[in-house]
Amino acid sequence: MVDQPHSPIITFREVTKKFGDVTVLERLNLEVAPNENLTLIGPSGSGKSTILRILMTLENVQAGAVTVDGEALWVDHGPDKLSEQAAAAQTRAIRRKVGMVFQSFNLFPHMSALRNIAEAPIRVLRLSKDEAYDRAIELLNLVGLADKQNSFPIQLSGGQQQRVAIARALAMRPKILLFDEVTSALDPETVGEVLSVIRALAREHQFTTLMVTHHMGLAREISDRVCFLEGGRIIEQGSPAQIFESPANNRTKAFLRAIL
Ligand code: ADP
Ligand code: MG
Repeated sequence: MVDQPHSPIITFREVTKKFGDVTVLERLNLEVAPNENLTLIGPSGSGKSTILRILMTLENVQAGAVTVDGEALWVDHGPDKLSEQAAAAQTRAIRRKVGMVFQSFNLFPHMSALRNIAEAPIRVLRLSKDEAYDRAIELLNLVGLADKQNSFPIQLSGGQQQRVAIARALAMRPKILLFDEVTSALDPETVGEVLSVIRALAREHQFTTLMVTHHMGLAREISDRVCFLEGGRIIEQGSPAQIFESPANNRTKAFLRAIL
C-alpha cells in the first residue's frame, strides 16, 4: 500500500488504558505526522508517560487501536486477535522503529559508554562489531562525548550518562524518538548540555519526536505542536505560540500559570 502524503506515523484511536479500576487514558485520539516534534505537557499523573510507554510496547491497552508506522500495535479486533507469535513479531518490529530515553538513564553499569551504544546494534540489528563500534564513536561525537568512549557509567556525570543514553537510542536508527522527562533527574548544572543535544537533534529533523518535559522554553523552541493533558485526556492542543501565549482553556491557563 502506498502511503498517503500526510498519513500519520503514529495513531491513537479511542484508546482506553486502565490500571485496575483506574482509567488512565480515556478514549484518547492522537495523530502524529512524520518528522513532527510533539510535546506533551500536563500535571503529574495525567497520563503522559503512559502514552510513551504504550508506543514503546511497555504497556497494553484495554480498548481502541494504536498504529506505529503502519504496524498495528493494539487493535480492537474483537474475535480475530493476533496469535501470540504474530504479536511478538509485531512488538519486535515496533521496538526497532521506536527509541526511548527515560528520566533515569538506565545504562548498563558494567559496560563502557561505547559498548552501551554498540550492544543492541550488534545483538538486534546484527551489525559487525567493527561497524557497530564505528557508529558508536560517531554517535559519541554527536553528543559531545568523544573522549568518554571507555568510561563506565559510574565515572560519568548524570548529564554525560544521559547523553550516552540518547546516543544509545539513536544507534538503533529509530524513526521515532521518545523523551520522558530526560532532564528531571539531573543536577541543574548538567541540564543545559542535555537540552543542547535534544535541540540539535530536533533541528536536523530526521525523526518524529514525542517529548514530555517541564522545560517550557525547550518545548516552545523545538515543538511543532504542544498537547496539554489532564486526567488522561487531551484538553487543548496547538502550536507553541497558541498554547503558551494564548491558551483557550482555563485549565491550560491554570497549569501554565503554576509552572511558568
Ligand atoms: P504522568 O507521566 O503524566 O505523570 P503517568 O502516565 O505516569 O502520568 O501515570 C498516569 C496515571 O497512571 C497515574 O495516576 C499513575 O499513578 C497511574 N499509573 C502509572 N503506571 C502505573 C502502574 N504500573 N500501575 C498502576 N498505576 C499506574
Ligand atoms: Mg511521567
